[in-house]
Amino acid sequence: PYDVLVVGGGPAGSSAAIYAARKGIRTGIVAERFGGQVLDTMSIENFISIKQTEGPKLVASLEEHVKEYNIDVMNLQRAKGIEKKDLFELELENGAILKSKSVIVSTGARWRNVGVPGEQEFKNKGVAYCPHCDGPLFEGKDVAVIGGGNSGIEAAIDLAGIVKHVTVLEFNPELKADDVLQKRLYSLPNVTVLKNVQTKEITGTDTVNGISYIDRDTEEVKHIELQGVFVQIGLVPNTDWLEGIVERNRIGEIIVDKHNGTTIPGLFAAGDCTDNPYNQIIISMGSGANAALGAFDYLIRN
Ligand code: FAD
Repeated sequence: PYDVLVVGGGPAGSSAAIYAARKGIRTGIVAERFGGQVLDTMSIENFISIKQTEGPKLVASLEEHVKEYNIDVMNLQRAKGIEKKDLFELELENGAILKSKSVIVSTGARWRNVGVPGEQEFKNKGVAYCPHCDGPLFEGKDVAVIGGGNSGIEAAIDLAGIVKHVTVLEFNPELKADDVLQKRLYSLPNVTVLKNVQTKEITGTDTVNGISYIDRDTEEVKHIELQGVFVQIGLVPNTDWLEGIVERNRIGEIIVDKHNGTTIPGLFAAGDCTDNPYNQIIISMGSGANAALGAFDYLIRN
Protein backbone atom coordinates (compact mmCIF):
# COMPACT_ATOMS: atom_id res chain seq x y z
CA PRO A 1 0.00 0.00 0.00
CA TYR A 2 0.90 3.65 -0.28
CA ASP A 3 1.70 5.73 2.78
CA VAL A 4 0.25 8.82 1.11
CA LEU A 5 -2.01 8.71 -1.91
CA VAL A 6 -2.77 12.09 -3.45
CA VAL A 7 -5.93 12.45 -5.54
CA GLY A 8 -5.57 15.36 -7.99
CA GLY A 9 -2.55 16.61 -9.89
CA GLY A 10 -2.86 20.40 -9.80
CA PRO A 11 -0.63 22.75 -7.76
CA ALA A 12 -2.05 21.45 -4.45
CA GLY A 13 -1.56 17.78 -5.35
CA SER A 14 1.93 18.27 -6.81
CA SER A 15 3.07 20.15 -3.76
CA ALA A 16 1.53 17.58 -1.39
CA ALA A 17 3.22 14.70 -3.22
CA ILE A 18 6.65 16.33 -3.21
CA TYR A 19 6.41 17.17 0.50
CA ALA A 20 5.33 13.59 1.26
CA ALA A 21 8.01 11.96 -0.92
CA ARG A 22 10.69 14.08 0.75
CA LYS A 23 9.86 12.23 3.98
CA GLY A 24 10.95 9.02 2.28
CA ILE A 25 7.50 7.48 2.38
CA ARG A 26 5.67 5.67 -0.41
CA THR A 27 3.73 8.27 -2.37
CA GLY A 28 1.39 8.19 -5.37
CA ILE A 29 -0.67 10.72 -7.34
CA VAL A 30 -3.85 9.88 -9.21
CA ALA A 31 -4.92 12.65 -11.59
CA GLU A 32 -7.63 12.94 -14.15
CA ARG A 33 -5.55 15.62 -15.89
CA PHE A 34 -2.14 16.45 -14.46
CA GLY A 35 -1.75 20.23 -14.15
CA GLY A 36 -5.39 21.00 -13.38
CA GLN A 37 -6.68 24.51 -13.92
CA VAL A 38 -3.17 25.81 -14.52
CA LEU A 39 -3.24 24.07 -17.92
CA ASP A 40 -6.08 26.42 -18.92
CA THR A 41 -4.31 29.58 -17.82
CA MET A 42 -2.47 31.89 -20.19
CA SER A 43 -0.43 34.45 -18.34
CA ILE A 44 0.43 34.03 -14.66
CA GLU A 45 1.88 37.12 -12.98
CA ASN A 46 1.19 36.45 -9.31
CA PHE A 47 3.19 33.29 -8.65
CA ILE A 48 5.64 35.04 -6.40
CA SER A 49 9.34 34.98 -7.40
CA ILE A 50 8.46 34.30 -11.06
CA LYS A 51 7.53 37.62 -12.64
CA GLN A 52 5.62 36.11 -15.51
CA THR A 53 4.93 32.65 -16.86
CA GLU A 54 2.31 30.70 -18.80
CA GLY A 55 0.10 27.90 -17.45
CA PRO A 56 1.46 25.04 -19.60
CA LYS A 57 5.02 26.15 -18.81
CA LEU A 58 4.35 26.09 -15.06
CA VAL A 59 2.73 22.65 -15.41
CA ALA A 60 5.85 21.37 -17.21
CA SER A 61 8.03 22.51 -14.30
CA LEU A 62 5.60 21.04 -11.78
CA GLU A 63 5.84 17.72 -13.59
CA GLU A 64 9.63 17.93 -13.77
CA HIS A 65 9.82 18.63 -10.04
CA VAL A 66 7.47 15.73 -9.21
CA LYS A 67 9.58 13.40 -11.39
CA GLU A 68 12.69 14.25 -9.35
CA TYR A 69 11.17 12.06 -6.63
CA ASN A 70 10.08 8.49 -6.38
CA ILE A 71 6.38 9.27 -6.85
CA ASP A 72 4.00 6.99 -8.79
CA VAL A 73 2.12 9.29 -11.14
CA MET A 74 -1.11 7.76 -12.44
CA ASN A 75 -2.32 10.35 -14.94
CA LEU A 76 -5.64 10.23 -16.85
CA GLN A 77 -7.25 8.26 -14.03
CA ARG A 78 -10.40 9.44 -12.33
CA ALA A 79 -11.25 8.52 -8.74
CA LYS A 80 -14.88 7.64 -8.13
CA GLY A 81 -15.08 6.63 -4.50
CA ILE A 82 -13.19 6.05 -1.29
CA GLU A 83 -13.74 3.76 1.65
CA LYS A 84 -11.87 3.41 4.92
CA LYS A 85 -11.33 -0.18 6.03
CA ASP A 86 -8.00 -1.14 7.64
CA LEU A 87 -6.54 1.03 4.92
CA PHE A 88 -8.14 3.60 2.64
CA GLU A 89 -9.36 2.03 -0.57
CA LEU A 90 -9.59 4.40 -3.50
CA GLU A 91 -11.71 3.17 -6.35
CA LEU A 92 -10.90 4.40 -9.86
CA GLU A 93 -13.32 4.73 -12.75
CA ASN A 94 -11.44 1.92 -14.54
CA GLY A 95 -12.29 -0.45 -11.68
CA ALA A 96 -8.84 -0.55 -10.05
CA ILE A 97 -8.55 -0.19 -6.27
CA LEU A 98 -5.56 1.57 -4.72
CA LYS A 99 -4.76 1.10 -1.04
CA SER A 100 -3.13 3.69 1.19
CA LYS A 101 -2.58 4.50 4.86
CA SER A 102 -3.52 8.14 4.27
CA VAL A 103 -5.11 10.12 1.45
CA ILE A 104 -4.88 13.76 0.40
CA VAL A 105 -7.76 14.96 -1.77
CA SER A 106 -6.80 17.86 -4.03
CA THR A 107 -9.33 17.58 -6.83
CA GLY A 108 -9.71 21.35 -7.29
CA ALA A 109 -12.66 23.21 -8.68
CA ARG A 110 -14.09 24.51 -11.93
CA TRP A 111 -15.67 27.84 -12.81
CA ARG A 112 -19.32 27.57 -13.72
CA ASN A 113 -19.72 28.61 -17.37
CA VAL A 114 -22.56 30.84 -18.63
CA GLY A 115 -22.84 28.64 -21.68
CA VAL A 116 -23.48 31.36 -24.26
CA PRO A 117 -21.95 31.62 -27.76
CA GLY A 118 -18.49 33.20 -27.63
CA GLU A 119 -17.63 32.06 -24.11
CA GLN A 120 -15.47 29.08 -25.12
CA GLU A 121 -14.17 30.76 -28.27
CA PHE A 122 -12.86 33.83 -26.41
CA LYS A 123 -11.62 32.14 -23.23
CA ASN A 124 -8.30 33.84 -22.41
CA LYS A 125 -9.04 36.25 -25.30
CA GLY A 126 -11.16 38.61 -23.25
CA VAL A 127 -13.30 36.08 -21.38
CA ALA A 128 -11.87 35.68 -17.88
CA TYR A 129 -12.86 34.11 -14.58
CA CYS A 130 -10.37 35.37 -12.03
CA PRO A 131 -10.20 39.11 -11.28
CA HIS A 132 -7.12 38.71 -9.02
CA CYS A 133 -5.34 37.03 -11.92
CA ASP A 134 -6.53 38.83 -15.03
CA GLY A 135 -7.85 42.19 -13.78
CA PRO A 136 -4.61 44.08 -14.57
CA LEU A 137 -4.75 42.88 -18.21
CA PHE A 138 -7.80 45.13 -18.69
CA GLU A 139 -6.33 48.35 -17.31
CA GLY A 140 -8.06 51.35 -18.90
CA LYS A 141 -10.57 49.16 -20.77
CA ASP A 142 -14.31 48.54 -20.51
CA VAL A 143 -15.41 45.22 -19.04
CA ALA A 144 -18.55 43.38 -17.95
CA VAL A 145 -19.05 41.16 -14.92
CA ILE A 146 -21.69 38.45 -15.29
CA GLY A 147 -23.23 37.63 -11.91
CA GLY A 148 -24.50 39.79 -9.06
CA GLY A 149 -23.73 37.51 -6.12
CA ASN A 150 -20.94 38.18 -3.64
CA SER A 151 -18.16 37.04 -5.98
CA GLY A 152 -19.55 39.07 -8.89
CA ILE A 153 -19.87 42.26 -6.86
CA GLU A 154 -16.47 41.78 -5.21
CA ALA A 155 -15.02 41.35 -8.70
CA ALA A 156 -16.80 44.48 -9.96
CA ILE A 157 -15.48 46.58 -7.03
CA ASP A 158 -11.98 45.19 -7.53
CA LEU A 159 -12.06 45.78 -11.31
CA ALA A 160 -13.51 49.30 -10.97
CA GLY A 161 -10.20 50.34 -9.42
CA ILE A 162 -8.25 49.11 -12.45
CA VAL A 163 -10.37 49.33 -15.59
CA LYS A 164 -12.18 52.29 -17.18
CA HIS A 165 -15.75 51.08 -16.73
CA VAL A 166 -17.54 48.01 -15.36
CA THR A 167 -21.03 46.83 -16.33
CA VAL A 168 -22.57 44.24 -14.02
CA LEU A 169 -25.17 41.91 -15.55
CA GLU A 170 -27.52 40.13 -13.15
CA PHE A 171 -30.17 37.68 -14.34
CA ASN A 172 -32.52 38.23 -11.39
CA PRO A 173 -34.43 41.45 -10.64
CA GLU A 174 -32.20 42.05 -7.59
CA LEU A 175 -28.52 41.60 -6.74
CA LYS A 176 -27.85 38.76 -4.30
CA ALA A 177 -24.62 40.19 -2.85
CA ASP A 178 -24.39 41.38 0.77
CA ASP A 179 -25.67 44.90 1.46
CA VAL A 180 -22.24 46.30 2.38
CA LEU A 181 -20.88 45.18 -0.99
CA GLN A 182 -23.86 46.64 -2.86
CA LYS A 183 -23.45 49.98 -1.04
CA ARG A 184 -19.78 50.07 -1.91
CA LEU A 185 -20.54 49.18 -5.53
CA TYR A 186 -23.20 51.88 -5.94
CA SER A 187 -20.78 54.46 -4.49
CA LEU A 188 -18.38 53.96 -7.41
CA PRO A 189 -18.55 56.38 -10.35
CA ASN A 190 -17.50 53.97 -13.12
CA VAL A 191 -19.97 51.10 -12.60
CA THR A 192 -23.33 50.41 -14.26
CA VAL A 193 -25.61 47.69 -12.88
CA LEU A 194 -28.08 45.96 -15.20
CA LYS A 195 -30.63 43.77 -13.41
CA ASN A 196 -33.12 41.31 -14.86
CA VAL A 197 -30.98 40.76 -17.94
CA GLN A 198 -29.90 37.55 -19.62
CA THR A 199 -26.55 37.31 -21.35
CA LYS A 200 -27.12 36.22 -24.94
CA GLU A 201 -23.71 36.24 -26.60
CA ILE A 202 -20.12 37.35 -26.14
CA THR A 203 -19.03 38.89 -29.43
CA GLY A 204 -15.60 39.44 -30.93
CA THR A 205 -13.24 38.94 -33.80
CA ASP A 206 -9.79 37.88 -32.52
CA THR A 207 -10.66 39.02 -29.03
CA VAL A 208 -13.83 40.13 -27.26
CA ASN A 209 -15.46 43.32 -28.58
CA GLY A 210 -18.82 43.26 -26.86
CA ILE A 211 -21.67 41.52 -25.12
CA SER A 212 -25.33 41.10 -26.12
CA TYR A 213 -28.07 40.65 -23.58
CA ILE A 214 -31.82 40.36 -23.38
CA ASP A 215 -33.65 42.86 -21.20
CA ARG A 216 -36.09 40.44 -19.52
CA ASP A 217 -38.65 43.22 -18.85
CA THR A 218 -39.03 44.22 -22.49
CA GLU A 219 -37.45 41.20 -24.23
CA GLU A 220 -35.38 43.68 -26.20
CA VAL A 221 -31.87 42.58 -27.25
CA LYS A 222 -29.14 45.11 -26.51
CA HIS A 223 -25.42 45.22 -27.21
CA ILE A 224 -22.56 46.93 -25.35
CA GLU A 225 -19.07 47.42 -26.76
CA LEU A 226 -16.35 46.33 -24.36
CA GLN A 227 -13.07 44.41 -24.26
CA GLY A 228 -13.45 41.98 -21.39
CA VAL A 229 -16.05 39.76 -19.72
CA PHE A 230 -15.56 38.28 -16.25
CA VAL A 231 -17.83 35.33 -15.56
CA GLN A 232 -18.64 35.17 -11.83
CA ILE A 233 -21.49 32.76 -11.40
CA GLY A 234 -19.80 30.32 -9.08
CA LEU A 235 -16.83 28.05 -8.55
CA VAL A 236 -17.82 24.41 -8.19
CA PRO A 237 -15.52 22.11 -6.17
CA ASN A 238 -14.84 18.68 -7.71
CA THR A 239 -16.09 16.79 -4.67
CA ASP A 240 -19.29 15.08 -5.84
CA TRP A 241 -17.54 11.73 -5.60
CA LEU A 242 -17.11 12.29 -1.82
CA GLU A 243 -20.78 12.94 -1.08
CA GLY A 244 -21.83 11.32 2.17
CA ILE A 245 -18.23 10.30 2.94
CA VAL A 246 -16.61 13.44 4.25
CA GLU A 247 -18.09 16.64 5.66
CA ARG A 248 -18.57 19.40 3.10
CA ASN A 249 -20.10 22.88 3.35
CA ARG A 250 -23.24 24.19 1.62
CA ILE A 251 -21.43 24.64 -1.69
CA GLY A 252 -19.65 21.29 -1.58
CA GLU A 253 -16.22 22.40 -0.37
CA ILE A 254 -14.48 19.95 1.96
CA ILE A 255 -14.21 21.36 5.48
CA VAL A 256 -10.62 21.26 6.75
CA ASP A 257 -8.84 22.10 9.99
CA LYS A 258 -5.47 23.79 10.56
CA HIS A 259 -3.65 20.63 9.50
CA ASN A 260 -5.83 20.30 6.41
CA GLY A 261 -7.44 17.29 8.11
CA THR A 262 -11.07 16.37 7.41
CA THR A 263 -13.73 14.67 9.54
CA ILE A 264 -12.09 11.29 8.75
CA PRO A 265 -8.74 10.64 10.50
CA GLY A 266 -6.05 10.06 7.87
CA LEU A 267 -8.03 11.78 5.12
CA PHE A 268 -6.69 15.24 4.28
CA ALA A 269 -7.73 17.79 1.67
CA ALA A 270 -5.96 20.75 0.07
CA GLY A 271 -6.43 23.50 -2.51
CA ASP A 272 -9.56 24.71 -4.29
CA CYS A 273 -11.66 21.69 -3.26
CA THR A 274 -11.55 22.84 0.39
CA ASP A 275 -13.35 25.60 2.27
CA ASN A 276 -10.31 27.90 2.29
CA PRO A 277 -11.50 31.36 1.29
CA TYR A 278 -9.19 32.25 -1.61
CA ASN A 279 -8.33 30.08 -4.59
CA GLN A 280 -4.91 30.78 -6.05
CA ILE A 281 -1.92 28.75 -7.21
CA ILE A 282 0.35 29.92 -4.43
CA ILE A 283 -2.31 29.27 -1.80
CA SER A 284 -3.06 25.79 -3.17
CA MET A 285 0.61 24.87 -3.09
CA GLY A 286 0.88 26.06 0.51
CA SER A 287 -2.14 24.05 1.56
CA GLY A 288 -0.84 20.95 -0.27
CA ALA A 289 2.41 21.21 1.70
CA ASN A 290 0.46 21.66 4.92
CA ALA A 291 -1.72 18.61 4.17
CA ALA A 292 1.36 16.44 3.47
CA LEU A 293 2.96 17.46 6.76
CA GLY A 294 -0.38 16.77 8.46
CA ALA A 295 -0.51 13.33 6.85
CA PHE A 296 3.07 12.58 7.91
CA ASP A 297 2.24 13.56 11.47
CA TYR A 298 -0.79 11.24 11.32
CA LEU A 299 1.33 8.34 10.01
CA ILE A 300 3.96 8.56 12.74
CA ARG A 301 1.25 8.56 15.40
CA ASN A 302 -0.74 5.62 14.01
P1 FAD B 1 -6.78 22.20 -9.74
O1 FAD B 1 -5.77 23.03 -10.41
O2 FAD B 1 -8.21 22.35 -10.13
O3 FAD B 1 -6.36 20.66 -9.95
C1 FAD B 1 -7.25 19.62 -9.63
C2 FAD B 1 -6.66 18.30 -10.06
O4 FAD B 1 -7.53 17.24 -9.65
C3 FAD B 1 -6.51 18.11 -11.57
O5 FAD B 1 -5.36 17.34 -11.82
C4 FAD B 1 -7.78 17.35 -11.94
O6 FAD B 1 -7.67 16.64 -13.15
C5 FAD B 1 -7.85 16.41 -10.76
N1 FAD B 1 -9.16 15.79 -10.50
C6 FAD B 1 -10.38 16.34 -10.37
N2 FAD B 1 -11.32 15.41 -10.07
C7 FAD B 1 -10.65 14.22 -10.01
C8 FAD B 1 -11.05 12.88 -9.74
N3 FAD B 1 -12.32 12.54 -9.44
N4 FAD B 1 -10.11 11.91 -9.77
C9 FAD B 1 -8.81 12.20 -10.05
N5 FAD B 1 -8.38 13.46 -10.31
C10 FAD B 1 -9.30 14.45 -10.29
N6 FAD B 1 -4.38 31.34 -9.89
C11 FAD B 1 -3.31 32.14 -9.70
O7 FAD B 1 -2.71 32.11 -8.63
N7 FAD B 1 -2.87 32.97 -10.69
C12 FAD B 1 -3.47 33.03 -11.92
O8 FAD B 1 -3.03 33.80 -12.79
C13 FAD B 1 -4.59 32.19 -12.15
N8 FAD B 1 -5.26 32.23 -13.33
C14 FAD B 1 -6.28 31.36 -13.54
C15 FAD B 1 -6.90 31.35 -14.81
C16 FAD B 1 -7.89 30.44 -15.09
C17 FAD B 1 -8.49 30.42 -16.48
C18 FAD B 1 -8.33 29.54 -14.08
C19 FAD B 1 -9.40 28.54 -14.39
C20 FAD B 1 -7.76 29.58 -12.81
C21 FAD B 1 -6.73 30.48 -12.52
N9 FAD B 1 -6.13 30.55 -11.26
C22 FAD B 1 -5.03 31.36 -11.08
C23 FAD B 1 -6.58 29.70 -10.14
C24 FAD B 1 -5.67 28.49 -9.97
O9 FAD B 1 -5.49 27.87 -11.23
C25 FAD B 1 -6.26 27.52 -8.95
O10 FAD B 1 -6.45 28.18 -7.71
C26 FAD B 1 -5.34 26.31 -8.72
O11 FAD B 1 -5.05 25.65 -9.92
C27 FAD B 1 -5.97 25.33 -7.75
O12 FAD B 1 -5.13 24.23 -7.60
P2 FAD B 1 -5.67 22.83 -7.09
O13 FAD B 1 -4.49 21.91 -7.15
O14 FAD B 1 -6.39 22.98 -5.83
O15 FAD B 1 -6.78 22.38 -8.16
